[in-house]
Amino acid sequence: MRLPQFEYVEPKTLKQASKTLASDKRTVALAGGTDLLVNMKHRVIEPKRIINLKTIPKLNHVAAGKEGLRIGALATLHDISSSLVIKERCPALAQAAREVGAYAHQAMGTLGGNLCQGNRCRFYNQSAFWRGVRPPCFKVAGKVCYVVPKSKECHSAYCGDLAPVLIALDAQMKIAGPEGERSLPLKKLYTHNGIKPLSLKKGEILREILIPPSSGKTLYLKWRFRDSLEFPILSLALHIEKDGKDQVKNGRIVFSAAGRGPVEAVLAEKMMKGISFDEAMIERISDQAVKEISPMRTSIHSPAYKRKMAGILLKQALEQLRNAK
Ligand SMILES: Cc1cc2nc3c(=O)[nH]c(=O)nc-3n(C[C@H](O)[C@H](O)[C@H](O)COP(=O)(O)OP(=O)(O)OC[C@H]3O[C@@H](n4cnc5c(N)ncnc54)[C@H](O)[C@@H]3O)c2cc1C
Ligand code: SF4
Repeated sequence: MRLPQFEYVEPKTLKQASKTLASDKRTVALAGGTDLLVNMKHRVIEPKRIINLKTIPKLNHVAAGKEGLRIGALATLHDISSSLVIKERCPALAQAAREVGAYAHQAMGTLGGNLCQGNRCRFYNQSAFWRGVRPPCFKVAGKVCYVVPKSKECHSAYCGDLAPVLIALDAQMKIAGPEGERSLPLKKLYTHNGIKPLSLKKGEILREILIPPSSGKTLYLKWRFRDSLEFPILSLALHIEKDGKDQVKNGRIVFSAAGRGPVEAVLAEKMMKGISFDEAMIERISDQAVKEISPMRTSIHSPAYKRKMAGILLKQALEQLRNAK
């Protein structure tokens, strides 16, 4: 499959990149290209101009300090999975990066691209030829959704591996834009709107992620049929901090491939506060979390199967962290 024609820009600074990005609706940012270029080959998106962020210096750092871990948006997934400081301080993040696609995706793909990747749907992530047999759906300015035919919205799913872990760790993001820089919690990047899944404004570029220090333990469990080259059928990040009496002080449960953005099971999280785990409690928390996800048939796997796997993964994760100090 061939790429369509496009103009190509190599900016030297973030400011220049963000100005160019803001100048025209059909200009897009390129990082590793492992998501964007595939979508362009499928003619899912046809940008007029591409801005290569990789030509901007100092955006691929991994630095540890008192305020936590700072990771540049252009750090590759391989940089993340092989970084000693990330392996030591955030092993779940290193593991999530190691589980993305195959090695080529990890060598080329970046943190920023992973977090900003497009939502997915089996009726959308297809070649133009495949899609051409039926009228376009909402995602491509059509008038129908083939996944939920009675709906007036797009239900495409967010399937990234790194966002659940980073949201569970309360990560903050730094965004550079034409009017300067702003900081906000990573979870606010996701709008849960299938057509425009990210809250980035015109010309904005994700510059850095900050992971604050945490005393808890984090796990990332990804369910898929093959060990590589596969998006999660469903995945889960669980973060638990305990107090001196072995009771849960703070717990976070975040799923991927379970909705239109990363899905946090907030009611199940509340149930965890102040408890010590036992079999019955683990069962109740998992049952509650499953009620909070809303998977649709955006892949070959049924929503019922995804819900079942969500419960199983969460029980496994809670069991693993049950005895963790
Ligand atoms: C076969 C295959 C398997 C895959 N498997 C997985 C998987 O298992 N898990 C998974 O999470 N992903 C998977 N991916 C998707 C993709 O490879 C990864 O998500 C990768 O990390 C994307 O990063 P990138 O740098 O290549 O992004 P790009 O393709 O360069 O960009 C992706 C999107 O993000 C935007 N973008 C990039 N950087 C920034 C930034 N700094 N600020 C604002 N916007 C930005 C781009 O404009 C584009 O819209 C897979 C892809 C393929 C083709
Ligand atoms: S969920 Fe519906 S509208 Fe969205 S991409 Fe799939 S078929 Fe199209």
